[in-house]
Amino acid sequence: MAVRRHDFGSTLVAALALMAGLAWTGEAVAAGYRTANFVIEAPTADLARKIGDAAEQYRHTLAVEWTGRPLPRWSRPCPITAQVAPHLGAGGATSFVFDRGEVFNWTMTIQGSEERILDSVLPHEITHTVFASHFRRPLPRWADEGACTTVEHPFERARQHKMLVEFLTTGRGIAFPEMFAMREYPPDVLPLYSQGYSLARFLIERGGRHKYVAFVGDGLARDDWAAALERHYGVGDIAKLQHIWLDWVRQGCPAPPAAVAAVQPDTLAAATLTTRGQSPDPRASTWAPADGGPVTTSAARSSVYARVGAVRR
Ligand SMILES: [Zn+2]
Repeated sequence: MAVRRHDFGSTLVAALALMAGLAWTGEAVAAGYRTANFVIEAPTADLARKIGDAAEQYRHTLAVEWTGRPLPRWSRPCPITAQVAPHLGAGGATSFVFDRGEVFNWTMTIQGSEERILDSVLPHEITHTVFASHFRRPLPRWADEGACTTVEHPFERARQHKMLVEFLTTGRGIAFPEMFAMREYPPDVLPLYSQGYSLARFLIERGGRHKYVAFVGDGLARDDWAAALERHYGVGDIAKLQHIWLDWVRQGCPAPPAAVAAVQPDTLAAATLTTRGQSPDPRASTWAPADGGPVTTSAARSSVYARVGAVRR
């Protein structure tokens, strides 16, 4: 049995503050709302209804986007506790338990402005539940957080890209062989989110979400990620993938040729992710780290909090 906790990448500070008893002490949760798969507590009845209806919609849409079919109804609903305020930093955490191939005991806490909860935090956290329900076992953290970040608002994804460039140029990148082996969050966690997002985007732009899910399932089943990469993306070496990906980042993350791009309909992307395939960061097009500079590891534990604080909006 394993309890699996997931935090919304951009503001781990919220979860950390929660643990310290410093946050979530604002408005009392005032209203509840129940859907088929969720029980929502939010400051007002209107917000609880909006969040609940959006959660159900995302649960359906995202399951189809990623796995090709909707999820069956859960035996017990997932409780969602929402703190909503205009200037509250966006954040969220979802936990659940795996036991003998089943997943249960969902709990989700989310916070932020109404807009950011509905367009980023909720789809991110719901994607965790889709993956947990689909794979019924823990995913490598980069593959899980990376994929969940691809469904966030373009604003949040652009911010991840900007941080990625900073991490890669300040020695905080994570070598792919090490990243692929990580089952838990590293002490310096933010580079895992940025790099995981970037690699997930790179792979999804080369075959779509269904292929990504098939790749992850294959890697999990055989515990052989090089073989899974070879089978699904034609790159049979994790270090070589790092080289190819890094080169793509250096070039400003250009969209792939149509021939190798996603061939399946990607309705979510078409509907909401209007900047997909483009570099959201103008600096990226001119960014050029030292040639051949390796992606190195770093463990700056204390910088996690400072970095989060520095980038919060
Ligand atoms: Zn997450």
